[in-house]
Amino acid sequence: MAARSRSRGNATVRKSPGLAQCSLLAYPSGVIHFSLFGIPIQIQPFFWVTMALLGGATNASTSQGLLKLGLFIIAGFISILVHELGHALTIKSYRVPTSITLQAFGGYASYPARSLNRLQSFLVTAAGPGLQLVLALVAHVLLNRLPPNEGMMMFLVALKWVSIIWALLNLLPVLPLDGGQLVNSVLGPRRIKITLWITIVTAVVVGILGIFTRQIFLTILLGMFAYQAFQALKENNWR
Ligand SMILES: [Zn+2]
Repeated sequence: MAARSRSRGNATVRKSPGLAQCSLLAYPSGVIHFSLFGIPIQIQPFFWVTMALLGGATNASTSQGLLKLGLFIIAGFISILVHELGHALTIKSYRVPTSITLQAFGGYASYPARSLNRLQSFLVTAAGPGLQLVLALVAHVLLNRLPPNEGMMMFLVALKWVSIIWALLNLLPVLPLDGGQLVNSVLGPRRIKITLWITIVTAVVVGILGIFTRQIFLTILLGMFAYQAFQALKENNWR
């Protein structure tokens, strides 16, 4: 379980319709478009499929199980959207156009290539997991303050743990995750070889831990990232 939260270059950027405006449009393809704080947001159908699988859709047979699954999907959606808003609002604060896409395995905030310097890029990346951890803290405080209500408790517990796990997994120093982007911002393009080796070693070690803890999905994802980094090293004769 991991998010692909990254900023892509050469993105197509649409004009934002205005601050805090939220209009909802579902196209026949199942793709949902809306705008929040002037940031265009697109949600692809496979985002919901990923959320349902992570929420244990295959085991939800009772009405209680279905309720738990529904609350997990809503909590996951809010948590990941807040994570991407952390990136996008920081990009917007530099007067750079941005948009958010939620897709299979997570989401990303995009902006035109070469529009941010290394420090700005570092702060944009850190803001995603940072804001998501603040959300976890808010959920934790509400859990202790609100009167006990089973549905609300289930929702807040899901919101808290999805936010913590998603943010921490994203902070692994593995490209293209946020942690890998942070290392890349600190070391810079000249030391990309070191960043790629950090990616490979971390992905392999955490991937092996994934096998022992039966998190096979995590192992497959990290294996893919290790392979991509290895290919990048090979193609550039950087070994
Ligand atoms: Zn992110």
